[in-house]
Amino acid sequence: MRQGLPPGLVAALFLAAAVAPLALAALSGEPPEALPTEMGIGLGLAALALMVLQFAHSGRFETLSGRIGIDRTMRLHRAAALALFTMALLHPIAFVFPALLSAPSHALEQLWRLVAKPRMASGVAALVCLALLVLLSHTRHRLGLPYQTWRALHAGLGLAAVGFAVEHALSVGLYSEGEALRAVWLAGLGLAVGALVWTWGVKPLLGARQGWRVAGVRRLGDGYWELVLSRPSPEPFAFAAGQFVWLAVGRRAPWDDNPFSIASAPGERDLAFVLREAGDFTRSLNRLAPGTPVRVDGPHGAFRLDEGETRAILLIAGGAGIAPVLAIWRHLARAGHPAPVRLIYGAQVATKLLYREELAATAAARGFGLILRVEEGELPEGVGRGRIDRAVLTEALRGLDPARTLVMICGPRPMMLAVAGELEALGLPPSAILYEAFVYD
Ligand SMILES: Cc1cc2nc3c(=O)[nH]c(=O)nc-3n(C[C@H](O)[C@H](O)[C@H](O)COP(=O)(O)OP(=O)(O)OC[C@H]3O[C@@H](n4cnc5c(N)ncnc54)[C@H](O)[C@@H]3O)c2cc1C
Repeated sequence: MRQGLPPGLVAALFLAAAVAPLALAALSGEPPEALPTEMGIGLGLAALALMVLQFAHSGRFETLSGRIGIDRTMRLHRAAALALFTMALLHPIAFVFPALLSAPSHALEQLWRLVAKPRMASGVAALVCLALLVLLSHTRHRLGLPYQTWRALHAGLGLAAVGFAVEHALSVGLYSEGEALRAVWLAGLGLAVGALVWTWGVKPLLGARQGWRVAGVRRLGDGYWELVLSRPSPEPFAFAAGQFVWLAVGRRAPWDDNPFSIASAPGERDLAFVLREAGDFTRSLNRLAPGTPVRVDGPHGAFRLDEGETRAILLIAGGAGIAPVLAIWRHLARAGHPAPVRLIYGAQVATKLLYREELAATAAARGFGLILRVEEGELPEGVGRGRIDRAVLTEALRGLDPARTLVMICGPRPMMLAVAGELEALGLPPSAILYEAFVYD
């Protein structure tokens, strides 16, 4: 069964939660203030509501992001972050807005006097935390900040921002003095703390109790590894082909986990992963000893093959994107499929085309279509030269009805965008194309 609420319902819930504080303020019965003051208050209330909601759409709650997908959830998270930061910046400025138009220097003086008041300290602290959050998110690569350090800082600063902002609203907020809004902000603070405790407290404990251990690690090819996990339970891990889990291999801090797509088929006892060397963890796989304990959180993700799918399936993988595609291919090989199954798999060089023998054997045994492409270097038998362009896609789609075909793509973002554009030009509706972007930041 599909996890998660329908996207329309999630959008409606978020919208309702974002405007609820404004509605409560409007219904409070307080006599209205001057328009700039009301605007300033409104911006502050909306910014705080969005700040709290950022903890809900962090991509770690399957109920909310299960059907939307982690990629789109994170895009929403980033868009909401910029919107709320802008609102929070404009919040104090709105109070002096009329003076800003008539006498700018006087307005700035007024603004300075306003924010310098001791009772505004928590509001200023919230703004500083938000500014640091935005700044670090945009400069972490240049600063060389390790990914996991950035994640811990991101959550810590986010929580501090909400804490300071709630204190600010409760201590100086005009409408937040009312019982209803007070309760909303305290519940919001509870939600933010609860989201972190759940993700980095409860989930790691539950994940560790599943008893997963490293069963084997082997080098697959140039910069790629296969990791296999097993656990004592006779029950196979329940997931849909294409989904991913968060893994923390060995003793690691609760926030030190990484998302990886499952490459084995549902129903298999062990879980297999294909890992590309990227950074600290994925470059230390040669030192990983069998028996090392592993925390598993999942399954997650909307890139999944649903039971009951009867359309023809075209799988497209580039680089490490073969991982979830392999799970789907393996699942279809085991379970059979009533319509054609085809795979296009591209890599830079032949040594990075993984599982070639297995793919060719399955294609021959099950009658699946297989197109392998490399951009440069040696050309082994059965492998073509070049990118996944319109000619390759036309060949893969030959004889298929675009209205009865599902395309699932996982690979580098530029490749996915180019391929999706070509597919649409070839008559595939956007709703028939599913993506996994491997992006979480
Ligand atoms: C849904 C999803 C599924 C994924 N599936 C696979 C897979 O099957 N195989 C595979 O090789 N890779 C996959 N990735 C990417 C993988 O998570 C990162 O390459 C990995 O976390 C790098 O960890 P590291 O400790 O080696 O690198 P780090 O030293 O932590 O970082 C190196 C770089 O990798 C990126 N990165 C680090 N951690 C993450 C993270 N948690 N999420 C996204 N990017 C990160 C950052 O840009 C960072 O700068 C997937 C990512 C997502 C979001």
